[in-house]
Amino acid sequence: MVLELLPGTKGEKMKVPMLDLQAQYKPLMPKIKEALERVFAEHNYIMGPQVKEFEEKMANYLGIKNAIGCASGTDALVLAIKALGIGAGDEVITTPFSFFATASSIWRNNAIPVFVDIDPLTFNLDPDNIEKAITEKTKAILPVHLFGQCANMDSIMAIAHKYNLYVIEDNAQGIGCTWDGKMSCSFGDIGILSFFPSKNLGAMGDAGMCLTNNDDYAFKLRQLRVHGENPKYYHQWVGLNSRLDTLQAAVLSVKLDFLEGWSKGRRANAEFYNEHLKNVPGIRIPYIDPKAVSIYNQYTLVCEKRDKLMAYLKEKEIGCAVYYPLPLHLQECFSSLGYKKGDLPVAEEMAEKVLSIPIYPELTREQKEYVCKTITNFYYH
Ligand SMILES: *Cc1c(COP(=O)(O)O)cnc(C)c1O
Repeated sequence: MVLELLPGTKGEKMKVPMLDLQAQYKPLMPKIKEALERVFAEHNYIMGPQVKEFEEKMANYLGIKNAIGCASGTDALVLAIKALGIGAGDEVITTPFSFFATASSIWRNNAIPVFVDIDPLTFNLDPDNIEKAITEKTKAILPVHLFGQCANMDSIMAIAHKYNLYVIEDNAQGIGCTWDGKMSCSFGDIGILSFFPSKNLGAMGDAGMCLTNNDDYAFKLRQLRVHGENPKYYHQWVGLNSRLDTLQAAVLSVKLDFLEGWSKGRRANAEFYNEHLKNVPGIRIPYIDPKAVSIYNQYTLVCEKRDKLMAYLKEKEIGCAVYYPLPLHLQECFSSLGYKKGDLPVAEEMAEKVLSIPIYPELTREQKEYVCKTITNFYYH
């Protein structure tokens, strides 16, 4: 089905960036400036009151008992693994199809990432592959809720219980997404969020968070983010310097009130794309499991002639991106783990076929139509 153009858009070239922070921030700036002014009045830059305020707001929003802010999503992962006592020689089962930090956080705790292949439909860890990878050294499973869709948490939690393994949810991309009506970050022992500017809730810089219903882990995480000290200058553990910046906490508190609306906007955009792209030959629209509600941090197509489509979209000034072009098991820095091409064929195939297109909530109808028309044109000509 080829889209009808809206009046006035006929033949016009339009720009559609991958993300439009100008459009996102424009209506927010007065409130953000006000919140920042409050920080500037107090000069309480390290662990100011805004940090605790935001932590409580997040804990409430997600319905999780403890929220521990830190400097980035990457640090949140490093802290989570450390807080669970996972270290030298321990194995953590995870996905090869994710952002680098998913695996580097395991590595940086001297533990061993064990990669298992993904489900081709959801791009998430395939539970059927997890059990085979469990050894005596396995301590945890680290699923990622990729692109904003929960991994299959029924199966993952069942395996974790059966083998007595920890579960750490890398929910950097999935704030607010649910599985079977239950909130992400509430299944495992610790869940993490990233507030990198391109995530659904983005800071004005780097920021991250750990979430847990377990008070002992929360206590340890709060200590580990300040060098593992308690009381001050007495160190029980070797921690990090990884606090959530007061200024970022102030910004994030303002923005959290808008998150639900943004996620709805992203879902509406996804429905528009689904409707207009589902019958285009050569591409597969995202598959969302009936038990999952995605928050669409990315809208990711599986494409024939992916690189040609990418070049075509670039020429038409439509932003797009490949998440991720090289699976983690094939990264040079992990070569000592001994993986080779062909070991995890689904992840490797997806790395060659996926393409994410603009999905941010401020997209206009004209922009969405232009994107669909352009992709349709590419496959029909
Ligand atoms: C963004 C991201 C991270 C890291 O978050 P930062 O805040 O950038 O450190 C970790 N895991 C996944 C899956 C991500 O997308």
